[in-house]
Amino acid sequence: MNTLINGIHHVTALASDTQRNVDFYVGVLGLRMVKKTINFDAPDVYHLYYGDETGSPGSILTFFPYAGLQRGRKGGGQLTYTAFSIPTGALSYWMDRLVQFDIPYAGPYKRFNENYLRFEDYDGMGVELVANSEDQRPGWNNGKIPQEHSIRGFHTVTLNEFRVEDTVSLLTDVMQHTLVAEETGLYRFQAGAGGSGSYVDVRFSSSDVRALQGAGSVHHVAFSTDSDDTQLEIREKLLSEGYNPTHVLDRNYFHSIYYREPGGILFEIATNPPGFAVDEPVAELGTTLKLPEWYEPRRAQLEEQLPKIVAEAR
Ligand code: ZN
Repeated sequence: MNTLINGIHHVTALASDTQRNVDFYVGVLGLRMVKKTINFDAPDVYHLYYGDETGSPGSILTFFPYAGLQRGRKGGGQLTYTAFSIPTGALSYWMDRLVQFDIPYAGPYKRFNENYLRFEDYDGMGVELVANSEDQRPGWNNGKIPQEHSIRGFHTVTLNEFRVEDTVSLLTDVMQHTLVAEETGLYRFQAGAGGSGSYVDVRFSSSDVRALQGAGSVHHVAFSTDSDDTQLEIREKLLSEGYNPTHVLDRNYFHSIYYREPGGILFEIATNPPGFAVDEPVAELGTTLKLPEWYEPRRAQLEEQLPKIVAEAR
């Protein structure tokens, strides 16, 4: 069987304030801004990408910061927690760091034999740091957080579902995931060989409230595929199983298809190539506003409208 899906590619969420978003994910969590571009469907809003040094698939968290956007509502049919991987020895460093920035956290808790911390960004977006000793990814050294403590990339995401069966069937029958662990009301799936970034946790929703999207909500989760060919193969598979994927869309840094999983969460399959160095060198990633070719004629106007960002605010 061809490997069509490797794990998480990126997670995209909504935010209410551009600078606070940068301050949190670059300033506090120490991720690198790997791309500063616009929402291709709403060019007066940024699309900010954070990740490791090169924006490797599996490390990329992206945001659309809509100024003043109302908070979303937490509930079922939602990706509730985005978990990053940190080294086992980094747990106390991060507890100190969150205190230093006045960010309340809960934990450490234990789940699937891993200790994790849970907190929210300023919009209420759920973030976790999972300590583990298996993740060999180097993490980004931004000069502020010692590299031995830095975030490695994603560990897992949690999908909160009213009915887990249909989502499980999509993950296992179509998307090549395997059930690898189970706790009360919580199921862990992995893609491929496993490891941090390849997991999806599906939780049976304890609330009967349906989630509403807004600031602090995840908009979609993207899964990584190796090439345009494997993307088309998984697209065919989705079609034949009755799902309704979009056509392939050019997102400049990857090619994408989108579809809704049965619980209502938007899924995407994104190609690993071409990556973020396609329009600026790795050393300069995220330093200037990048526009797709078709928006270049509007650059002056867009630069005028978009809020100024201080990248090193903290
Ligand atoms: Zn996406």
